[in-house]
Amino acid sequence: MSLRGTAAAVAMLIHALFCGLPAAADQTAAATHAALSGDKHRTSFRLDLSVGVPAEIYTLANPYRVIVDLPDVEFRLPESTGQQGSGLVSAFRYGQFAERKARVVLDTAGPVRIEKAGMTAAPGGKGIVFTFDMVTTDPASFGVGTGAGKAAANSEEQPPVKATDETPRSAGKPVIMIDPGHGGIDGGAISPSNLLEKEIVLAAGKEVARQLVATGRYDVRMTRDSDVFVSLDQRLGLSAKHGVDLFISLHADSLPEQEGAQVVRGATVYTLSERASDERSRRMAEKENASDLVAGINVVDGADDDAVKGILFDLMKRETANFSADFSNALVRKLRPVKVLARTPQRAAAFKVLKQTHAPSVLVELGYLSNTEDEKLLNTPAWRKKVAAAITAAVDAYFTKRTAGAAGP
Ligand SMILES: [Zn+2]
Repeated sequence: MSLRGTAAAVAMLIHALFCGLPAAADQTAAATHAALSGDKHRTSFRLDLSVGVPAEIYTLANPYRVIVDLPDVEFRLPESTGQQGSGLVSAFRYGQFAERKARVVLDTAGPVRIEKAGMTAAPGGKGIVFTFDMVTTDPASFGVGTGAGKAAANSEEQPPVKATDETPRSAGKPVIMIDPGHGGIDGGAISPSNLLEKEIVLAAGKEVARQLVATGRYDVRMTRDSDVFVSLDQRLGLSAKHGVDLFISLHADSLPEQEGAQVVRGATVYTLSERASDERSRRMAEKENASDLVAGINVVDGADDDAVKGILFDLMKRETANFSADFSNALVRKLRPVKVLARTPQRAAAFKVLKQTHAPSVLVELGYLSNTEDEKLLNTPAWRKKVAAAITAAVDAYFTKRTAGAAGP
């Protein structure tokens, strides 16, 4: 058996290409162990794989990250893997990035250079050990070997999301898009007992979709219906493509302990605004807008701010903002009796996923994974059913009012 691990700078990338046997062409590689070792000068990352796969490693700035792109890899790793940093790495995450593409994203304390990347047969000949080192470098030399160009191409590179994409629009019925946040490599917030936001909101989203479909009144679409990463631009693209009449994004964030994690709880309905209604909302939008960064997509600094300003200018000329506010009001009215609302349940901030001129949109933070009571609730089918029923009732009220309005004088 001949194994060869090479690390060479190709264009702006560093390739760690595995060119040996066994080939992984006909089987999905499984990752069974991931670990960091070393110190603040040199940190090694190790990933144990069942078979060798081609891997591509590159670095990104703002914030500093190391991205490892892999083909379809099934991660069989303990739940908390990656949450604890070591040496130059503060944390890492892994998961599906796109169809048949997996990714590992490592957050580094500063600019690093990749060294000694390679894949070797594991001791005992069972599987492959994939390793590379990260060493500190200065910001000036960091530019060499970064994946800025590569990352810029990322969005085009991502295959179109399938979701509930293929069915043609049914005539006459309002199209409602349910948008469960995060997914795949972007787990979203994590509760103290390791519940992931991406799982909570997917379960809730499916229940909302189920109840909306059951009314027979709506054409319901989802931006994702499995554990897959969907970028914010893709979410916006799907909404535009389907010409949706209402877009509902679902999230469940967390607060740090010092911001009252044990006191702050309940659901909040957000609408788009350039100026956040309060500091917590501003930070919440900042966090949710970072989804693409979390997944290792290069986001051009400031571009989003400008885009939001452009959209807001556009919105002033349209009714969309008023309709979003209408739906937000309807939603809060229906959620109030269910007793799940936060103390100030209607807020606004510059959420990127709400930047839609064609569709009224809201983002619902269903609760706080950082709050013990909320955490328990958010994971129960009974709570999901109740909240989904309230959302469905709000959608009914909203469209009944709109239809009545349209039919009026
Ligand atoms: Zn979220």
